[in-house]
Amino acid sequence: MWPYHPELLARAVPRYTSYPTAAEFTDKVGAAQLGQALGALAPGTTASLYAHIPFCKEICWYCGCNTHRANRARRVSAYMEALDAELDWLAQKVGGKVQLQRISLGGGSPNALDAMRFVRLLDQILTSFAAGNPEISVELDPRTLDADWTILLGKVGASRVSLGVQTLEPHVQAAIGRVQPLDMIERSVEMLRANGIQSLNFDLMYGLPGQSGDDLARTLDAALALRPDRIALFGYAHVPQLIPRQRQIDDSALPGLADRFTQAANGYRQLVSAGMVPIGFDHFARADDPLAIAALEGRLRRNFQGFTDDPAEALLGVGASAITCLPQLLVQNEKNPGRYRMRVMGGQSAAELGVARSSEDCERGLVIEDLLCGRPADLSGLPDDHLLELRLMPFVRAGLCRLADDRLEILPSGLPYSRAIAACFDTYRAGGAERFSNAV
Ligand code: SF4
Repeated sequence: MWPYHPELLARAVPRYTSYPTAAEFTDKVGAAQLGQALGALAPGTTASLYAHIPFCKEICWYCGCNTHRANRARRVSAYMEALDAELDWLAQKVGGKVQLQRISLGGGSPNALDAMRFVRLLDQILTSFAAGNPEISVELDPRTLDADWTILLGKVGASRVSLGVQTLEPHVQAAIGRVQPLDMIERSVEMLRANGIQSLNFDLMYGLPGQSGDDLARTLDAALALRPDRIALFGYAHVPQLIPRQRQIDDSALPGLADRFTQAANGYRQLVSAGMVPIGFDHFARADDPLAIAALEGRLRRNFQGFTDDPAEALLGVGASAITCLPQLLVQNEKNPGRYRMRVMGGQSAAELGVARSSEDCERGLVIEDLLCGRPADLSGLPDDHLLELRLMPFVRAGLCRLADDRLEILPSGLPYSRAIAACFDTYRAGGAERFSNAV
């Protein structure tokens, strides 16, 4: 179905949830620029808020998230105090000014928190910002999801939940340090639906240690039987030099590039054959899901939360490592929860690193977003770049994309090469590729 060109996938590339990517953030941009940019937001600016909960009851070996074991109650409550303080700080800056349309809680696993602590956090967000009836979405770890938590999610009006499923094969679960039998996922789905959660996403993975094509196919079948509204099928990114917990994974059991490619292709085919609509290069949704409709109508976007139909002008991030995305500015909070707490409890902004986007960055970012969202990209606004055609030519010659009259279109056969094609427009990627993962 997809032509295999290993030489075009050999370069490690970013996932482009922003442009410039977080790898370009420096300490030259931080609290001062964030304060100014928030102050300059026009009244009525639409916004979404993301709150990062960097705790999980158990840590999975493959996990690349900024998260820690929730094994010390004092540590968790100290962090939550700091999060309250940061929300107060943010509310003073923009509380009555922005129109909060969506609230996302992720991490980590928000359900590592005590349920009542979670309610207090949500309550603080809702009362601090001009929020009519925002959509509330929460990432959950099925291993620690109980009946009380699902009842509470229904009561607070959460409408979207994302469950970390990854694989349903017991031997692969053992190889990644995340054991959660199928009946645990089934019970979670049942409880969530019974409590009014309207939209369920499953995160799944290919390219895991010891995972065969048949393992993946069985997981997809079992997942589809539970009728999720959305599925994200990610390739596992093994970068133990950056993520020490991944050293627990036996890298001799990891599928090679050719097997990863086959798994991605077969996974795509299986999900599409089952009626899921492909969204970008690694998401799938039921045809009546807002994400599928947004993709059809050309409204799909890509931000730090992946592919989204969120039209908000500002994405406000609170919590350790959270990223705030404003039209000309990207700023990331201090990543370490202890240092994060010291900053915000000392009355400082948590902003640590960032990048101010030049007009060229914005133009390139639009091209990359269009390509990754499956739209033809208009290249006419880009500055002259005599090397661009050279970088693109191997993909054009291989029939993976079409370039005509300043318009670039990724063809269906080029889908798995989307990130590699997008990287042709990334002027920051001359070196340092080892920070990223395989393009498939
Ligand atoms: S539950 Fe999710 S966030 Fe927590 S360690 Fe596992 S993969 Fe990471």
